[in-house]
Amino acid sequence: MLVKEEKILQTYFGYETFRPGQEETIDHILQMNNTLAVMPTGGGKSLCYQIPGLSLKGTAIIISPLISLMKDQVDALHSLGIPATYINSSLSAGEQQDRLHDIAASRYKFVYVAPERFESMSFINVIKRIPISLVAFDEAHCISQWGHDFRPSYRSIVSNLKKLSNIPVYVALTATATDEVISDIQELLHIANGHVINTGFERENLSFHIVKGKDKPSYIRSFLEEHQEESGIIYTATRKQADALYDQLSKRGVTVAKYHAGLSEIERKEAQAAFIHDEKSVMIATNAFGMGIDKSNVRYVIHYAMPMNIESYYQEAGRAGRDGEPSDCILLFSPQDVQLQKFLIEQSLMEDAAKQNEYRKLQAIINYCHTHGCLTSFILQYFDDITAHDNCGRCSNCVERQEKTDITEEAQMILSCVKRMGERFGVGMTAKVLKGSRDRKIKDFRLDKISTYGILSAYTEKELTEWIHFLIAEQLLATEEGKFPTLRLNHNSVDVLKGNRVVEMYTAPIPTSDDADYH
Ligand code: ADP
Repeated sequence: MLVKEEKILQTYFGYETFRPGQEETIDHILQMNNTLAVMPTGGGKSLCYQIPGLSLKGTAIIISPLISLMKDQVDALHSLGIPATYINSSLSAGEQQDRLHDIAASRYKFVYVAPERFESMSFINVIKRIPISLVAFDEAHCISQWGHDFRPSYRSIVSNLKKLSNIPVYVALTATATDEVISDIQELLHIANGHVINTGFERENLSFHIVKGKDKPSYIRSFLEEHQEESGIIYTATRKQADALYDQLSKRGVTVAKYHAGLSEIERKEAQAAFIHDEKSVMIATNAFGMGIDKSNVRYVIHYAMPMNIESYYQEAGRAGRDGEPSDCILLFSPQDVQLQKFLIEQSLMEDAAKQNEYRKLQAIINYCHTHGCLTSFILQYFDDITAHDNCGRCSNCVERQEKTDITEEAQMILSCVKRMGERFGVGMTAKVLKGSRDRKIKDFRLDKISTYGILSAYTEKELTEWIHFLIAEQLLATEEGKFPTLRLNHNSVDVLKGNRVVEMYTAPIPTSDDADYH
């Protein structure tokens, strides 16, 4: 029990109790053990170094690659009466000099710097002479080449730092939980296994929902009507979508803010301020909005269309509920979203190998939209989070779960149809063949001659499409990744075909035939 530190938590920060992992992390640091804290976004990583920084003698140096965040962090500390500053390229040479002077006089408890600062001899010369309490690496995954945001300049400062003899302890903080990144950081900063605190990725206050087969604008309108008092973000896939939705809602008298890279800097700043200060409760934005926004009372994040991958989805959705209160993350899915994302990948200037990688990640989020399993655990497993369990009890699949239906026979028909089509076609064509469609292309390829043509004609093409996506999401059927992915059988398909495996599906998530915009 850390009595003094709990007092700091209460008197300085005004919080009653520690969040999971905070106390343990702080305890390790106070015992001068190099420590790694892996906590989800919003988990409260800052306090893990701020409290020991206040408790220990000397200045804490925090290295952060996010320049935009430094000022906010420093302002927040100032508002608590804590002396802090930052140095980065946004300051003039004179300002940098003044701040260095004050650092040399040990006037600050916290100094935030960008990795590049360690290339400056004048900075190194100052910090090697002052008492240091700790050095913290925020966003520590950036020092790992396995991290999704590797920055070589970040990695190289470690060797520079090791030449200094006055650093008592290193702290690394990240929300990236893959084993490779964790062990890379451990090795670089000499962090023993016992000093890694991994609270897992789960945000227990977030409920994930997939909404399919709904008219999106009217869904949004009725959602906003029911949540008028709450603050939320609606992410669109393109600027055009953001503009259109903004216009629609404004015309109906809903007060909304808008943010995307096509707006001027002033417009963006104003929109952001209006949202942060609760003058406008709804922000409609592209993924340009959010990095470095610490608004704690965001009650919902709606994705108007499926984003490009699970990494960006979890990051954007994770902006909900930073205060720990229950919040909703809703993804409005329509099949057109997949086409749009493929178009964006095709249009990009990436090399072929990189495109292929994007297609692989895209398929994972398509699977997320079609799984009947727990959505939370799907995401956690995607990030190799070992703490993942089967049933969060909060996501739309867990909550709406209805009776299981045995669809083994239908699955076998679908799989044998894929086989008979020579494993050369995609979801759409396969659904058409199963339905017995009279589409020209079916005749051109003579697919109306195979024995599975029309074998599931009792179902709509839409239902059949949904089933095929379900089989892919459950890995009972494989798909190539690419612009026109073809279906293939895998070893699980063979088990199903041989009758060695039962296929069950929850009936609820299938959209009914009169649903709009689902085809
Ligand atoms: P992270 O860096 O992990 O994304 P932050 O450090 O920005 O998260 O913390 C997220 C929010 O949670 C902040 O608003 C912070 O003040 C708040 N917070 C942190 N620790 C606690 C706590 N023990 N009790 C309540 N709120 C906390």
